[in-house]
Amino acid sequence: MENCLFCKFVSGEFKTEKVFENEDFIIIKDIAPKAKNHFLAIPKKHFKLLAEMTQEDSQTLGRILKTIPTLSDVLHLENGYRLVVNQGDDAGQTVPHLHVHILSGQKMEWNPA
Ligand code: 5GP
Ligand code: ZN
Repeated sequence: MENCLFCKFVSGEFKTEKVFENEDFIIIKDIAPKAKNHFLAIPKKHFKLLAEMTQEDSQTLGRILKTIPTLSDVLHLENGYRLVVNQGDDAGQTVPHLHVHILSGQKMEWNPA
């Protein structure tokens, strides 16, 4: 997808430190962390919304969700963690390429608004 920041991170056109990569996705550090540790799991394929996923995309997302807890050391998940997927304007989705926020390393309030 042209002019998509996360596609450019995936392709390497824009440089960023990838803390993990496999055939399905990359994980990078969020530039504006909302918790002590804040990572972004970004599928390599561009799509914006869960509602747009093909069967194959949903299988990919399933593998991504299964892989995240295996990376406990890298992502500091040992004491628990939170996953967030913002969808659309009301949720404040700013990058139109689906991504899973991974928050860890501290006690978190439950304050979705
Ligand atoms: P959203 O608001 O779409 O759910 O999440 C987008 C996230 O991307 C935000 O948490 C924001 O801080 C992060 N972000 C935006 N631009 C950059 C960037 O250039 N590099 C990195 N590492 N993260 C970014
Ligand atoms: Zn993209």
